[in-house]
Amino acid sequence: MILVSACLLGIDCKYSGKNNYDDELKKFLKDKEYILVCPEQLGGLSTPRRPSEIIDGEGNDVLEGKCKVKNNDKEDLTKEFIKGARETLKIAELYGANIAILKSRSPSCGSQNIYNGEFNGKIKEGKGVTTALLMDKGILVLNEENYEKELI
Ligand code: SF4
Repeated sequence: MILVSACLLGIDCKYSGKNNYDDELKKFLKDKEYILVCPEQLGGLSTPRRPSEIIDGEGNDVLEGKCKVKNNDKEDLTKEFIKGARETLKIAELYGANIAILKSRSPSCGSQNIYNGEFNGKIKEGKGVTTALLMDKGILVLNEENYEKELI
């Protein structure tokens, strides 16, 4: 079972109310078992919503209480992001998912890079909050840009 970011398959759960549909990924998943998740919605955030970024750290730091996730109105959404990560992990465990393909650069789903916390479109190395928790539990987390290299 593969856990997949819902926005990658066309669900309008992105902060903007739109999605990140990826036709190649949809074709790849055609004969596979997968389940869609959106950690930010699972954390109780509405759609559309203001964009959020991890401030002065990355996903592991958020889980360890060392930094926060805020939206571009400086609202602290750390609790919601951690809840979304935990709910996503519950789903992964419920369905026995040991691989995830999650949207790159997101403060929840990013796995190699995330936005840098300054809302200027620049990225830095690091994982999103959900990815950090899933990886900690031994789940292989890939993104829409590197899954082919790992799985095909
Ligand atoms: S939290 Fe993940 S699944 Fe939800 S919109 Fe953001 S990138 Fe997509």
